[in-house]
Amino acid sequence: MNAIARPPAGGTVETDVVIVGAGPVGLFAVFELGLLDIKCALVDILDKPGGQCAELYPEKPIYDIPGYPIITGEGLVEKLIEQIAPFKPTFHLSQMVESLAKDSDGRFRLTTDAGTTFLAKAVVVAAGGGSFQPKRPPVPGIEQYEGTSVHYAVRRMEDFRGHDVLIVGGGDSALDWTLNLQPLAKSLTLLHRRDEFRAAPDSVRKMRELVAEGKVKLALGQVSGLKGEGGQVTHAVVKDKDGAEVHHEATRILPFFGLTMKLGPVANWGINFNENLIPVDTATFQTSEPGIYAIGDINTYPGKLKLILCGFHEAALMAQAAVHVVSPEKKVVFQYTTSSSSLQKKLGVI
Ligand SMILES: Cc1cc2nc3c(=O)[nH]c(=O)nc-3n(C[C@H](O)[C@H](O)[C@H](O)COP(=O)(O)OP(=O)(O)OC[C@H]3O[C@@H](n4cnc5c(N)ncnc54)[C@H](O)[C@@H]3O)c2cc1C
Repeated sequence: MNAIARPPAGGTVETDVVIVGAGPVGLFAVFELGLLDIKCALVDILDKPGGQCAELYPEKPIYDIPGYPIITGEGLVEKLIEQIAPFKPTFHLSQMVESLAKDSDGRFRLTTDAGTTFLAKAVVVAAGGGSFQPKRPPVPGIEQYEGTSVHYAVRRMEDFRGHDVLIVGGGDSALDWTLNLQPLAKSLTLLHRRDEFRAAPDSVRKMRELVAEGKVKLALGQVSGLKGEGGQVTHAVVKDKDGAEVHHEATRILPFFGLTMKLGPVANWGINFNENLIPVDTATFQTSEPGIYAIGDINTYPGKLKLILCGFHEAALMAQAAVHVVSPEKKVVFQYTTSSSSLQKKLGVI
């Protein structure tokens, strides 16, 4: 992945436009706004850009991106980041935009859960289906251990060093972290309900090698309870396939049961919603609030298709409208990148 500017969280960032969501559509919006000399900051809850393409299907081939007969989710995100690099957007990752309000000077003030404040002349909501939330397994009392012993993502591998780690699941996340955490953990058990795995075959093969070497324990069954005190788990109670209860030593538990998408705080920003989607004017992609635009999966209008290519089109039209809000004095002349030397200069190709 290309180097991207990731300023530390916190403080106040003044910019022309804040784009909420660094999915494929939010990323392409940087390009369309950049051609009009508009500076952007991108914010995303995820720790990487790419939205659904990066989080849900990085290795799946996409066949309907114009000009690419086949490209993976991850490949498309890399190309988009390369394409927007000349415009030097700042990426504010691992933070969720919580609030959006208007200041007395007419600028929008957005705040994140990581303590960053943005002041911007316009806002582009490219929040897709909202925020990805891990699915919580149906284990009684699991909430009291979340954030201490039970984690749904690995933020810092060091937090798992020297622990009895129990990983639950059979997909790519479960297998990837089994392989990555095994060298650090005191012990590592992979628990899955059956001896078949959805993860990449190569990861499954490597896991089975570690099991054969006695470095990873593979258990079949389901977690039925957790034992511990003061927010710290000591044991997981596992019901095996014959219904017998087995206690596994575990001080760190990583359940990987997939992700769901929840709309999250976007719903409270005073913008009109219709069944969890933001209605927009299809000439400008403006929402019910002047200066706030919505593009990509989050918006709705007659004939809307939740396709990446539709989001790209929306980004182009949004930029042509937003420029009048961001730079009202600017005379906008429509130009092609093929023939405009001023656009080519901005792109750094001449
Ligand atoms: C399995 C699968 C296969 C698909 N295949 C195709 C295909 O072949 N072709 C195609 O065109 N489309 C496909 N799609 C659909 C495509 O991925 C979506 O249309 C596209 O990702 C929408 O892009 P987006 O940028 O609007 O939203 P998203 O990709 O959903 O990105 C939105 C981003 O906003 C962030 N966000 C949300 N709320 C906040 C907040 N409050 N603060 C900060 N960040 C926030 C989220 O974390 C997320 O990263 C597929 C989808 C799936 C699930």
